[in-house]
Amino acid sequence: MPIKSALLYLSTSDGLKNFLTRFKSFNNVTRRFVAGESLADATHAIRELNRKRITASFDHLGESITSEVEARAEVQEYLKVLASISENALDSNVSVKLSQLGLDINPGLCFENTRAIVEAAALYRNFVRIDMEDSSKTDSTLEVFKRLRADRENVGIVIQSYLRRSEEDVDELLRLGARIRLCKGAYDEPSSVAFAIKADTDKNYVLLMKKLLTSDIYHGIATHDEKMIAATKEFVAARGIPSERFEFQMLFGVRRDLQEKLIAQGYRVRVYVPYGLYSYPYFMRRLAERPANVWFVLKNMLKG
Ligand SMILES: Cc1cc2nc3c(=O)[nH]c(=O)nc-3n(C[C@H](O)[C@H](O)[C@H](O)COP(=O)(O)OP(=O)(O)OC[C@H]3O[C@@H](n4cnc5c(N)ncnc54)[C@H](O)[C@@H]3O)c2cc1C
Repeated sequence: MPIKSALLYLSTSDGLKNFLTRFKSFNNVTRRFVAGESLADATHAIRELNRKRITASFDHLGESITSEVEARAEVQEYLKVLASISENALDSNVSVKLSQLGLDINPGLCFENTRAIVEAAALYRNFVRIDMEDSSKTDSTLEVFKRLRADRENVGIVIQSYLRRSEEDVDELLRLGARIRLCKGAYDEPSSVAFAIKADTDKNYVLLMKKLLTSDIYHGIATHDEKMIAATKEFVAARGIPSERFEFQMLFGVRRDLQEKLIAQGYRVRVYVPYGLYSYPYFMRRLAERPANVWFVLKNMLKG
């Protein structure tokens, strides 16, 4: 656990970011989890996934923006993404982080920005998933989501099984008909709000997965954990829930073998595809999920 916490702490460090991103070899290794810097790079990656019958979600990397101008630029980027999905006939939706759309600067502006993306997506008959960030943003993120969901069905939310509050949130969100992506949670949280022991997060994941999959709403089961996947398969088999009633979701560059295996077994799989210049915090969270990846990075940086 200490390595994980240290990596999550460093994911917010500007000093380390400025130091590491000076090395070309560091930027090269981030490509393991990031499709590239441009929309064209992500489009290419998604076309390849679609060829394997895997659907996708575009994520433009850009959390922690510091001005309203930057937040508006993110909206423009997502409008381009939605147009590009349509023009290229890609099987993909989009994922957004509210901090990227101005949540920390001006929640009212953030709501308007997110609404602009959700409305544009509706015109394209597409869908917007609102990612969940650290627990300081859970309430404000849920509030923006609920206001949007009151008018639009093409918007969904994320729930993290490591948060103690999540069961209550799921119950409320299901009453609203919300489409939920269930994940374990990727941030460093105090034990007052999140389970400190992985087994408790996993137990909660299974409990929440069962609630979601018996709700008659289409949800995403986002995990690379074979135990969570096995529990899901076992549950849907026992309940006779057809495989087209939900989807597994995974991250770009993580467990490609498992993604393809699930497709071959007749399940739906969606892959989250990040792209953009601002890959540092995203990359560091991916390292924290599997500290063994640090050796991969160091080896490749030394080689480069
Ligand atoms: C589609 C998708 C969207 C997500 N959206 C959010 C979000 O909005 N908010 C949020 O807080 N979190 C999000 N996450 C991240 C999530 O919360 C977890 O941090 C991440 O998925 C790792 O948890 P796990 O379920 O894979 O299980 P873990 O128990 O962490 O890992 C199980 C196994 O999966 C493999 N694995 C997991 N991660 C990696 C990795 N980075 N590199 C290589 N192997 C790995 C390893 O073999 C590991 O032993 C998302 C994850 C996915 C898949």
